[in-house]
Amino acid sequence: MKVDEALNAAYNILSRSDVTHYHIDAQLILARILNRDRLYILTNPDDDISPALSDIYLKSINDRARGCPLPYITNTREFYSLGFYIDSSVLIPRDDTEILVETAVKMIGGKGATVLDIGTGSGIIAVGIAKHCENAVVTATDMSPAALGTAKKNAAINGVDIIFRYGNLFDALTESGRPFDFIISNPPYIKTDDIKTLDKSVKAYEPIEALDGGADGLYFYREIIGRAGEYLAKDGNILFEIGHGQACDVRNILTKNGFTDIKIIKDTGNLDRVVTAKNAKGKKVQTDV
Ligand code: SAM
Ligand code: GLN
Repeated sequence: MKVDEALNAAYNILSRSDVTHYHIDAQLILARILNRDRLYILTNPDDDISPALSDIYLKSINDRARGCPLPYITNTREFYSLGFYIDSSVLIPRDDTEILVETAVKMIGGKGATVLDIGTGSGIIAVGIAKHCENAVVTATDMSPAALGTAKKNAAINGVDIIFRYGNLFDALTESGRPFDFIISNPPYIKTDDIKTLDKSVKAYEPIEALDGGADGLYFYREIIGRAGEYLAKDGNILFEIGHGQACDVRNILTKNGFTDIKIIKDTGNLDRVVTAKNAKGKKVQTDV
């Protein structure tokens, strides 16, 4: 099969699916399979594709037509102008999460701060910070071993050193050391009952443990904020991504736990997206790294 024949077959399949911008998807998937870029694909229509690669291509196109998200097929996603390897072990990075990383990078700056990213998934937050705050010492945790494997790969791809720890929230941290100056998390925050209302491309393909925030969507905020004081330095900061309509509840949980200087930052759609707060109290326990 030649490149243009493969593309036409793909356009034909995808035109009958719900995929919008399907020409680009078809070109990107072929580029990935042939290990070329999109421009090469478009300028070399007569190149031959081996039968084995043609089969893989048409299978991938059919996966896309059934609703599999593009990053799970091409295994790539750009986030915060950095390249990431993505597979079905991790949530696909959302553009909105760039606001959390941008806020964290501004607050951390060039300080030699200790930073903890809880529920790192693909590692986008930890890697984004490590890349832009060169003096920061970044620890990243997850309770999915497969996600941690993907995050490690992404640290290597982007040439940054991150300390990875496996485990449930703070239980991942065992050793004694400096308290954290920053705790950052984009935890699962969808209400359990709302998962079934999500787009099929999310609920059928993305890891449920990356989405389910318990009955009211706030389980992880309560758990993390309830224990964060033990792990944060005095005047250390906590930063969260939040879902629609959660700002008020998260603010209340923070206030109840003695956090001050609470700020809510909006996303480009003018929705509350990031919450930051300060730990006015000193830390209680020595932990980690
Ligand atoms: N940080 C990534 C991002 O922003 O794209 C992933 C965020 S995803 C919403 C939440 C992550 O938390 C998932 O990778 C999931 O495996 C992890 N997670 C869920 N429960 C956890 C727990 N109890 N302890 C640690 N990580 C957990
Ligand atoms: N923003 C994601 C979504 O809309 C949810 C991510 C999360 O739970 N932190 O599906």
